[in-house]
Amino acid sequence: ADTLEIIASKSTGSEPSTPDDNVNVVVRVRPLSQKERQAGHESILQFPGNGQVMIDSGRDSGSRNKTNVRVFTYNVVFEPGATQDDILDYSGIKRLIEMAVEGFSCTAFCYGQTGSGKTHTLTGPPDLFQNRPNPADPRHGLIFRAFLYLFQMLKSRTDTHFVLKASFLEIYNEKVMDLLNTGSGRKPLTVRWSKKSGGFFVENLFTVDCEELDDLLAVLEEGMRNRAVGSHQMNDHSSRSHTILTVHIISEQKMEGGIFISKHGKINFVDLAGSEMTKKTMSEGTTLEEANNINKSLMVLGYCIASLSDSKKKSGHIPYRDSQLTKLLADSLAGKGVTLMIACVSPAQYNHAETLNTLRYAFRAKRIRTKPIIIMDPREALILSLKRDIQALEAENEHL
Ligand code: ADP
Ligand code: MG
Repeated sequence: ADTLEIIASKSTGSEPSTPDDNVNVVVRVRPLSQKERQAGHESILQFPGNGQVMIDSGRDSGSRNKTNVRVFTYNVVFEPGATQDDILDYSGIKRLIEMAVEGFSCTAFCYGQTGSGKTHTLTGPPDLFQNRPNPADPRHGLIFRAFLYLFQMLKSRTDTHFVLKASFLEIYNEKVMDLLNTGSGRKPLTVRWSKKSGGFFVENLFTVDCEELDDLLAVLEEGMRNRAVGSHQMNDHSSRSHTILTVHIISEQKMEGGIFISKHGKINFVDLAGSEMTKKTMSEGTTLEEANNINKSLMVLGYCIASLSDSKKKSGHIPYRDSQLTKLLADSLAGKGVTLMIACVSPAQYNHAETLNTLRYAFRAKRIRTKPIIIMDPREALILSLKRDIQALEAENEHL
């Protein structure tokens, strides 16, 4: 293999203090819409503080006097009044970007039922992209804000040369479609395994070199426009499709003695299909094989997260290869990076079953334990390990 994997703690000393840190789970509760308020809907969620969400799903039909109150704890809970800027500042996304710059594979994904605010959180309202957006617009979502933060960071790193590349794809019905290159009759692309990099990749995916912030923004806009075009053809298209916007960050840092250290990190922004799709699939008794046309990727993501979070099953099979989504996210889910899950929920009583499902799913994800690793060139790995040996010898000498 051309690449070697090194435990971050050894190579950078920047390992998070506890393994829990590698999966950050936050919850965002959207406000009741005007329509919902006018119809008299009330919130069934309360926020006792300390990352807690309390859900009162109403009385059990079986036992008339028993109420159904549950409390779940997460890293952070965003109440309905939270702004788009709050998500940037307090979700942990800044750390993901910093880790991606350091050579890790990171993923931020929004999970939740249709209408819970996934797209709002990641990209903002769709009409932002009809014309060229104003950068100061407070409605901009997390992706736009993360790009600004990334470029600000890169500017301050004058000792390192960075190359950025971006792609934007959609998974619909287990078919991978390019959201940037829609010309060629919208033919599905093939996901292949690369022996060289030890990971999955999408063959012929359009990847744009992004020198300026504007280039990244153009990728976001173009992909959003193309996604919207697709959604006119089928009503529930965006409920059933996942989109992945990936930014590759390749860095070359010049060290003493003319040595270059090169790293390849990336960050994926994932807008998942509506979580109600998983339940539909399950309740209809569909097997994984048959789930193809409904939503295999979301089911398998659930299995992957469940197996990762179950420490007893640590050595067991984690079914990354069973869906396109999990193939493409395998490196960051399996421990080569940091994952941020933003669970989006509606506060309304009539959504209580889906909200409870999402809160449970998110709670389970919190228990994933992974160790992030940096992807490096073997030559550089050797140099670093020699340096460490020298340091160890020097330390020993001091004691003599
Ligand atoms: P999803 O992508 O999960 O299906 P959307 O992001 O499209 O959901 O949100 C559904 C509707 O709710 C949209 O009209 C959106 O503008 C609105 N919405 C979602 N979250 C918020 C929020 N935090 N503040 C204001 N409006 C929101
Ligand atoms: Mg959406």
